[in-house]
Amino acid sequence: MTRNEPLPMPNGNCQLLNDSSAMISEEEARDTILRTISPLPVMQVALADALDLFVARSVTASIALPTFDNSAMDGYAVIAACARKGGRLNVIAEQPAGISRSLRVAASEAVRIFTGAPMPMGADAVVMQEETTRDGNSIIIEAENVAAGEFVRKKGSDLAVDQQIVGVGERLCPARLGLLASQGSASIDVCRRSSVAIITTGDEIVAPGEQLRPGEIFESNGLMLAALAKRAGATVTMRSHARDEFADLCAALREGIKSDALIISGGVSVGERDLVREALKEMGVQVDLWRVKVKPGKPFLFGRHAGCAIFGLPGNPVSAFVTFMIFVRPALLRMMGANDAALRLHQVLARLDHDVVGDEIRPHYLRGRLVQGRFAAVGRQESHALFGLARANALLRVAPGENFAAGSEATVLLIN
Ligand code: AMP
Ligand code: MG
Repeated sequence: MTRNEPLPMPNGNCQLLNDSSAMISEEEARDTILRTISPLPVMQVALADALDLFVARSVTASIALPTFDNSAMDGYAVIAACARKGGRLNVIAEQPAGISRSLRVAASEAVRIFTGAPMPMGADAVVMQEETTRDGNSIIIEAENVAAGEFVRKKGSDLAVDQQIVGVGERLCPARLGLLASQGSASIDVCRRSSVAIITTGDEIVAPGEQLRPGEIFESNGLMLAALAKRAGATVTMRSHARDEFADLCAALREGIKSDALIISGGVSVGERDLVREALKEMGVQVDLWRVKVKPGKPFLFGRHAGCAIFGLPGNPVSAFVTFMIFVRPALLRMMGANDAALRLHQVLARLDHDVVGDEIRPHYLRGRLVQGRFAAVGRQESHALFGLARANALLRVAPGENFAAGSEATVLLIN
């Protein structure tokens, strides 16, 4: 069957599918999806449970960092101007970390001090232990020059009180969690994790572990999509498989639309057994878009039902992966409160190992490997070719009509 003929639809109607005119652009699809998504309710979570969630209310510093002037070294706190090479200073006391002894240093004196210990009054530098010689109760300075401020960590030099430490929509990466903990916080307000239901479809699909009969294949998209959703921070609350039968599909969809997001694999293309659109219609789902100018992934569908965002992904594994990355992932992250910067995949500039010729109509996402700044496509660049995808760590988006010569630079998107 060619693309421009009227296709018989499951409801008996015919629809003309002109290959490019019926498709919307990738940008339009993404904008439409993101426009419809609102952040999920805010909740307070323990910092220990907040990794990779998104800040719902900004936080400002209540404690300066460093919190007090302290030593950056094990050594001797001195007055810099009084610590000349070869000079002798009396060691009057010891200042360990974890307690303030309220010591004071005078011109001919030094205080034995340790990393993180509060600076004695009067002292403005620390001479590190390795640059002194201890002689009973005194030290001889071996350093060529001791400058004021040397090895002293000044109060507030890293972070001032009232400075913003995390902003709305920022991802809570390990270092930001550490910064919040440094303020004495135990919890933070975030948008809750999105719940995701995954429905795979197809009469030819068999669950791993079952007996494969001729013509059947093992189900692989469900596991892959669940892993991608989890990596985006979502909770997978349902996974099921529906045969290409209307009633079976409707029963699965009815359960799936109870989640914040429903991801359907397969059944969204134009064949007679692709019943997802028809079943969604039966559910009363509003389909906002279907068929996008993107390669692979053309049959992609997006719709909504009450609080559920519905994504119909093509069954071909690479198409499912790519459409997850470019449409589903940002939507899940936006639900969880991510700002625009946090929605994007990491990008790096790479030198191409070979010529690249783009598709004429659709942006093409090539799967490849980025190794030490060089990118090369891996495996077959076809939508079923899961092996190549599994070896890839980056995608190269080639705009319609765009060509690259071997050795030229291009931006690639990191996927692992
Ligand atoms: P469909 O989008 O349903 O027309 O499926 C397109 C191709 O993807 C067909 O070759 C299917 O067998 C394959 N496929 C569909 N669903 C899955 C799945 N869950 N796991 C692996 N392959 C699948
Ligand atoms: Mg199918």
